[in-house]
Amino acid sequence: ERVDFIQYFHGVIDRFELNLPGHIHLKRQLPEGQFPVWMDKDKMTQVLDNVISNAIKYSPEGGIITMKAENKRHYLLVSISDQGMGISYDKLDKIFERFYRADKARTRKLGGTGLGLAISKELVEAHHGKIWATSKEGKGTTVLFTLPLMNQKRRGV
Ligand code: ATP
Ligand code: MG
Repeated sequence: ERVDFIQYFHGVIDRFELNLPGHIHLKRQLPEGQFPVWMDKDKMTQVLDNVISNAIKYSPEGGIITMKAENKRHYLLVSISDQGMGISYDKLDKIFERFYRADKARTRKLGGTGLGLAISKELVEAHHGKIWATSKEGKGTTVLFTLPLMNQKRRGV
């Protein structure tokens, strides 16, 4: 279905705001205007729910989570940045593997199965996008993904 991504993304963030742990702040850096993307809303919501939940789970007290979307002409670049513990460079690719959890001792108490990002990767790729992460240990993590933009002039389907 054709979806205006920015309007949709605001809706997802609004839903998180309703139930946010008190010490976390969500910041939006979303442009004005139409960003039409061909997508399955339910599947994209699974991707965003997992990435945003991770950002919340690994955020420190008073942490700010920044949600961005940028128009790169033919595709949209979406990113979610947190100020959490970060992930070491050698583990950055592994977090997208099934059941992989960086630092077992530390993450055990935070719960989860290690499937969220593996599923997110499958779903983003099913939308012809790519997903990856950058991180600075002790400073924070950014998860980024792309989605092809539809021809903005096309109307209807
Ligand atoms: P699930 O999503 O299945 O509940 P999970 O959150 O542990 O479990 P993933 O979402 O796949 O699993 O993430 C895999 C691992 O990557 C996590 O266990 C954690 O070690 C690391 N990770 C993911 N996001 C972040 C983040 N924002 N900051 C630090 N580490 C992260
Ligand atoms: Mg997760």
